[in-house]
Amino acid sequence: MQDLESLVTHALGEVAACATLAQLDEARVRWLGKKGALTEQLKSLGALPAAERPAAGQRINEVKERLQAAIEARRAGLTRAEIERELAGRIDVTLPGRGERRGGLHPVTQARLRIETLFRRAGFDVATGPEIEDDFHNFEALNFPPNHPARAMHDTFYFPDGRLLRTHTSPVQIRAMLSQGAPIAVVAPGRVYRCDSDMTHSPMFHQLEGLKVGESVSFANMKAVLHGFLQAFFERDLAMRLRPSYFPFTEPSAEVDMSCVFCEGKGCRTCKHTGWLEIAGCGMVHPNVLMASGVDAERYTGYAFGMGIDRLAMLRYGVNDLRLFFESDLRFLEQFRTL
Ligand SMILES: [Zn+2]
Repeated sequence: MQDLESLVTHALGEVAACATLAQLDEARVRWLGKKGALTEQLKSLGALPAAERPAAGQRINEVKERLQAAIEARRAGLTRAEIERELAGRIDVTLPGRGERRGGLHPVTQARLRIETLFRRAGFDVATGPEIEDDFHNFEALNFPPNHPARAMHDTFYFPDGRLLRTHTSPVQIRAMLSQGAPIAVVAPGRVYRCDSDMTHSPMFHQLEGLKVGESVSFANMKAVLHGFLQAFFERDLAMRLRPSYFPFTEPSAEVDMSCVFCEGKGCRTCKHTGWLEIAGCGMVHPNVLMASGVDAERYTGYAFGMGIDRLAMLRYGVNDLRLFFESDLRFLEQFRTL
């Protein structure tokens, strides 16, 4: 037993000298293994007189615990060193960081925000409404009676319960008038849905509805507001013309054309050599629509207009295929990043 101190000093020295985890494991077996030196000491307890056994056993166990703690500490140190050595071989800390890829606003969102800003300056509030609508708000209140042929112009997605995905943002003008009454001036941007898809049509697209109702609101007011908006949006002088048209919810109704932004009206492929681009629909709010929305049609008049936000974005950014906006191709979208 007198050897115990020198034994443990020797063992601790060996553990400290281990340079690898493998060497440390060998040392552990040599001292604490089944046939290890300390285990042999414990076995030799049997040769001692019975009175000395407990004290000797306790000392051996203390030594064993010290040695175990030393081995664990060394193992932790060697493991850390090994990881560091491994990383040092693979990581070049002088390389530039990969960093986070920065996002940006979608071009359609940029166009929408720009449109909203311009109309706010002209005194309009921004209103929103649900994308899942009912027949009343999407059709009936907008003067589309049941079985009205104009309903067929909208290839509508219906739910089994009769509700539908709104086919235009016009239901928001009904909701706005029902909740706020007149006078009112709102624009309502948002997603709309139609069962249609090709180069210039997507089953989901973005529209902006405009509505102004008040005493003595006139067709001329509407023309001035739309012309001012188009010139501000495209940042240039543009000619605008109105052509008679038909919508159930306005009377009279008109299509809005503006001079082509690509050829300045000379004629090109985009404008089909007419020099004009169709950009919006508009008209004076039909008295039936005012009445369905609880507005006094004798006292108030109003105008409404609708335009495609995607189309405005396509013309402003010179994009020729609508589908590019919805394919989430970063190579395309990154060209519009402004930050
Ligand atoms: Zn043109």
